[in-house]
Amino acid sequence: MPTGGGKSLCYQLPAIIGKGITIVVSPLIALMEDQLHGLHAKKINAMMLSAKAGKENTNKIMTALIDSKSNLKLIYVTPEYMSKSNRFMSKLQKAYEMERLDRFAIDEVHCCSQWGHDFRPDYKFLGILKSMFPTVPLLGLTATAPAKIIIDVQKMLEIKGCLILRSSFNRPNLFYEVRRKPTEKDACLGMIENLLKNRFEGKSGIIYTTTIKDAEQLTTDLRARGLKVGCYHAILEPEFRTKVYSKWINGEYQAVVATIAFGLGIDKPDVRFVIHHCLSKSMESFYQESGRAGRDGKRSHCIVFFKLSDVFKLSPMVFQDKVGLENLYKMLAYCLNQSSCRRSLIATHFEEKWTEKDCDEMCDHCKKPREKQVIDVCTYCSYLYQIMMNAAQSETRLTPLKLIDSWFNKGPVALRVSSIPTPKFSREFGEAIIGHLLMLGYLQEDFHFSAYSTITYIKRGPKAALVLGKEHKIPFEYEKC
Ligand SMILES: [Zn+2]
Repeated sequence: MPTGGGKSLCYQLPAIIGKGITIVVSPLIALMEDQLHGLHAKKINAMMLSAKAGKENTNKIMTALIDSKSNLKLIYVTPEYMSKSNRFMSKLQKAYEMERLDRFAIDEVHCCSQWGHDFRPDYKFLGILKSMFPTVPLLGLTATAPAKIIIDVQKMLEIKGCLILRSSFNRPNLFYEVRRKPTEKDACLGMIENLLKNRFEGKSGIIYTTTIKDAEQLTTDLRARGLKVGCYHAILEPEFRTKVYSKWINGEYQAVVATIAFGLGIDKPDVRFVIHHCLSKSMESFYQESGRAGRDGKRSHCIVFFKLSDVFKLSPMVFQDKVGLENLYKMLAYCLNQSSCRRSLIATHFEEKWTEKDCDEMCDHCKKPREKQVIDVCTYCSYLYQIMMNAAQSETRLTPLKLIDSWFNKGPVALRVSSIPTPKFSREFGEAIIGHLLMLGYLQEDFHFSAYSTITYIKRGPKAALVLGKEHKIPFEYEKC
């Protein structure tokens, strides 16, 4: 169920009706604090256990667990705490014998799965719940659940046979759009400035960036253009973050420039725009981040600023995860796509059935259908291989930038290959072809560690042998100019 769809209600409501205790396992303290805040405002007795909880608080919870007269309804706990606290586990066992345990609710349950985009090793511990408390119902909740992950999660939690409820991923009031991100920084800032001062004038939104440094820089740059924006990332002091958050909530800031640390537990219904200054690391992240727009059901915009070089900024950060690159390339595919309905791309990703009518012109491609054209890019692929072979002879590895430069007859002369014609199309189009070849496995990234960073080079991909075959074709679909 999408974020904001009412997942918490699935355990909060039964918890209030029942006599016993509901244990809610959640990965993030900030998320739990938000929920407690909401519950306390409604005078519901709920508490949180964490390493920071304090002795008195912890003692209260431990006592309440085995006190049949206690009116404590919900206990929030992190998986880390559970796996480390024998005291808590033994109290749980006692509570179980007293039939005081009504249910376990595991939030962000996809964190159990290594296939997920957010695997957390401490979730492994939850696998013992079913054997320790066989009669206590177990509820898992997530906004991210491709079939593969659901199966994996069931295995991890040792659940045999269960009911799976799934709601639609479609958010009809969100308008999806991908824009080409200019290479020049000033042009890019100008685009954001223009959006904030015109289309989104007086409206509230979020601008997502990748790194802390980017978030800070972008904030400074936008402020220099007279925009009221705040900066939010994980390294800032909690008090400072709260300040930024409340200034945004009450409208002093038009937008928050943030890393993905910002968002969990956001309770602002009228977010009218989410701009991705750089593409997300996966479709799941993108869906979650963009989904923070338009919770009130009113029309809101989700815009991704895309340029290929951003992919190579992200790939060194994700390539060590099991499916990090695969996930990133799916996001790349979403951005590169020139004609399909954005909604259909999202729906397909989440394995949901889809008909074209479901979009109702609420994405860039449905609103302005473009004439498309398909060309074969196999020849270009072989040109790129020739450039790589030439570079290999001088024992040079090609970064994506160097590869594109050489192809367009720029950069060091030694890296250029005179027999290859300089493309007549734009550099941007050339980049799109490279992105396409990367996605399909004709090219691949090659990571090398330097003292301070990881560098990505481009080399031939696993499908390279196919290109040598005479009949081979690599279709590439693009919008006709
Ligand atoms: Zn559409």
